Amino acid sequence: MMTIDKFNFAGKKAFVRVDFNVPLDADFNITDDTRIRAAMPTLKKIIADGGSVIIGSHLGRPKGVTDKFSLKHILAHVSELLGTDVQFASDCASEEAAMKAAALQPGEALLLENLRFYAEEEGKPRGLAEDATDDVKAAAKKEIKEKQKEFTKQLASYADVYVNDAFGTAHRAHASTALIADYFDADHKMFGFLMQKEIDAVEKTMKDPARPFTAIIGGAKVSSKIDIIENLLDKVDNLIIGGGMAFTFIKAEGGKIGNSLVEDDKLDVAKDIIAKAKANNVKMVIASDAKIADAFSNDANSKFVDADQIPDGWMGLDIGPKGEQEFADVLKNSKTILWNGPVGVFEFSNFAQGSKVTALAVVEATKHGAFSLVGGGDSVACVNQMGLANDVSYVSTGGGALLEFIEGKVLPGIKAIRGY
Ligand code: AMP
Repeated sequence: MMTIDKFNFAGKKAFVRVDFNVPLDADFNITDDTRIRAAMPTLKKIIADGGSVIIGSHLGRPKGVTDKFSLKHILAHVSELLGTDVQFASDCASEEAAMKAAALQPGEALLLENLRFYAEEEGKPRGLAEDATDDVKAAAKKEIKEKQKEFTKQLASYADVYVNDAFGTAHRAHASTALIADYFDADHKMFGFLMQKEIDAVEKTMKDPARPFTAIIGGAKVSSKIDIIENLLDKVDNLIIGGGMAFTFIKAEGGKIGNSLVEDDKLDVAKDIIAKAKANNVKMVIASDAKIADAFSNDANSKFVDADQIPDGWMGLDIGPKGEQEFADVLKNSKTILWNGPVGVFEFSNFAQGSKVTALAVVEATKHGAFSLVGGGDSVACVNQMGLANDVSYVSTGGGALLEFIEGKVLPGIKAIRGY
């Protein structure tokens, strides 16, 4: 497999799929440019080699051309970070784009307009009437798949080399994230530096972890994490369950959880997970106490109780001091740590303590040689909020893609390049 560090881009045009899906405020200012910065090493290497780059990305979930989701809003910032004036093609699959790509000189860069302005990017029909018959739906699907081939071919025609640096969309089999790779031979397609780092970090964690291996799975709902937990139960030594989802487990074991978040239709799943953990010798850790509140609000009245003795009218919004100690004890001895999902409502300052202590325990373990991977939307926001992102081994930029990768799925964006 070709790798970006080995490839000399001199005189070559590279189509680089990045994930510039950054948050913008009402005036189109970028509020967090982490994803743009994360792609810079790849873009800079191509330019430094004397290549030129055609940058493709999506922004948001447009259902057609929408000014709000135009990549022109981020053009100036991309130019600034790249240190060169990046050109812009206001339609990613047009004659204009093709001409601008063809005219690129070594060291120059072209940003394409939002790839998702075309339904072809995702390959899903748009604008179908809700009451459309199955025949109509099937015909629309067939039509868009045909058009998608043309669209993909057009994007591929801009470049000599394809580089995928968009880990955030690696779980999607879209035109620019996967299908396009078919137009390049094995020596002319590769992962960008970011994508390679993400893959290495997850594979290091999941394939050959130093032990003990501890996963902290938190967040709101069990239902969104079942597949991950199932996969982890075959791999980890310890499984810490935190956040709102812990209460489904506590209820499944007969505990009183008051008005805490619960998924009653997942009680059996929780029981199965508990049984499988026992059978696999995985130590499951659920905080034995909780910080409870009489309303879902930062200003609610609060107190600490045993996590299985929550009175009606009260809800658990964070772990308590005993839970903090229980989590820290397990993390302290861990050599590999995977953290997805906060262990409390960390957005409320009065219920952020558990997540903070957990983050500090992960940092401490990392200092003592553990490899720690933090990933998946809210956990990243959580370590960022606490200013600890630089003190863990790796913070993933991927949300859904990371979760699917941890679940053990083959991601289309990865398979398209390396074949598995
Ligand atoms: P997820 O996206 O599933 O990782 O969930 C993250 C969200 O879970 C965050 O917004 C947290 O505020 C929320 N959360 C964490 N703990 C609790 C809890 N005890 N009750 C309700 N929501 C929670």
